[in-house]
Amino acid sequence: MTLSVKGLGVVLDGHALVDDFSLKLQAGRVHAVVGESGSGKTLSALAVLGLLPEGATTRGSASKGGVELLTAAVPLRREGLAMVLQEPLSALNPVLSVGAQLMETLSVHGARGELRALAVALLEEVGIPAGEDRLRLYPHQLSGGQRQRVSIACALAASPEVLIADEPTTALDASMRGVILSLLRRLARERALAVWLITHDLQAVRGASDEVTVMYAGRVVEQGLTEQVLESPRHPYTAGLLRSNPAGSKPGAPLPALPGSVPLASEVIPGCRFHPRCPRVFDRCRVERPALLTGAACHLVNP
Ligand code: SF4
Repeated sequence: MTLSVKGLGVVLDGHALVDDFSLKLQAGRVHAVVGESGSGKTLSALAVLGLLPEGATTRGSASKGGVELLTAAVPLRREGLAMVLQEPLSALNPVLSVGAQLMETLSVHGARGELRALAVALLEEVGIPAGEDRLRLYPHQLSGGQRQRVSIACALAASPEVLIADEPTTALDASMRGVILSLLRRLARERALAVWLITHDLQAVRGASDEVTVMYAGRVVEQGLTEQVLESPRHPYTAGLLRSNPAGSKPGAPLPALPGSVPLASEVIPGCRFHPRCPRVFDRCRVERPALLTGAACHLVNP
């Protein structure tokens, strides 16, 4: 196991933003964490990296290589972890060339060898040929897809064991999204990298991840092998996300969507937090919180 998160909780201003989040990342595999905005998927990763807002507290554990990350000093807890952000234009330094940024990261992380050659090799690895020429370019001279590839190359320059990719395709056009997700999966396999892929798009993880965790309102509601979850969703929220797919809608017909929205952390909702939106709600759901058993947190699945 490369990284194991158990019972992670994040509390800010007295509100539980993440509650009982668990996840296992393995070398060579992609684990997608999916949910609408406000489900706590990014916050869970930031908690592991020690990047929570001031005043936030955590509980639970996150261990990598025998080191407990949640209580370790920040430089130690980030060792072996790298992150790719949603918007590469803001992640990259606009006044430094691609080559300078790559070589700086390589140097900081103690890379051995000629930095220029290593930077060219990294660009080629992420699918940017003629790397020697590209080293001279600045982020604004690249397309959106190329910028995200450079962001991924910068993350790889740190030789991570775990790569956290936070909505890495949101700022890209549809044709480039699949390309970047395939790249992440290839890198996971070739580098024995554990990839933690955060996305709001459940359809996008088909073919892009090995395992999937579905989050709702700060909690895990379903977890399992990606193919299994997508083919036979067990939780009504997962099924609703899969139905909310514009690709399958008829021209002129309303787009399928889940009714309502994710509740705020401050909203007190007894029982199952999904019950106000659930099409299959029954009396027990309004009073008793379902536990995550057999891969799904739902009273229908675990009567
Ligand atoms: Fe729906 Fe009840 Fe299952 Fe919650 S526990 S998802 S409300 S059926």
